[in-house]
Amino acid sequence: MSRPTKSTDWQTEIYRKHSGWVAGTPPHMAIGEGWAEIVARLFDRIAEALASELPSTKVAIIDIKEKYGEFRIEALAPVGPEAEAAIDRAILLAELRSECTCDECGEAGRMRSTLAQSGWLAVKCDHHAAGYPRILGKGSPRRRITNRRGTFDITYDRATDSITETLVAGRRETE
Ligand SMILES: [Zn+2]
Repeated sequence: MSRPTKSTDWQTEIYRKHSGWVAGTPPHMAIGEGWAEIVARLFDRIAEALASELPSTKVAIIDIKEKYGEFRIEALAPVGPEAEAAIDRAILLAELRSECTCDECGEAGRMRSTLAQSGWLAVKCDHHAAGYPRILGKGSPRRRITNRRGTFDITYDRATDSITETLVAGRRETE
């Protein structure tokens, strides 16, 4: 994929590519251009997840934004459990990648904050770190999640854009 040009054209481009399943008029994405590739990958993965659904299936994108320095998406997808799990996983990958990707240029970055007491959070590379002197992100992004299979510790690997799961507690067989 070619690097998107300056301006918000990259958003139009992504929405146009996926107009087959994006419902209605999707929202403006309130995120930096450095995350364009994260969104592009996320939408490709959602399209893949929808391949097993009816061709008429539409997903409503309610909101795409940055919150506490991280990528957030709110979407409504009337799909079966398999596609739903695939979409949840795609969203998790996008969120974790945002935690280590500069929101300005898309290079590897770390979660940083301003020095003020009610500081702003943002993920920046070393080159775009001006105004964000405190480094908060150390090592690979991690998260603990609970789904219908149990509770897992998740570690994200940026080089391969994948996660490894470690089971913390499994669901009982009878559930
Ligand atoms: Zn940068």
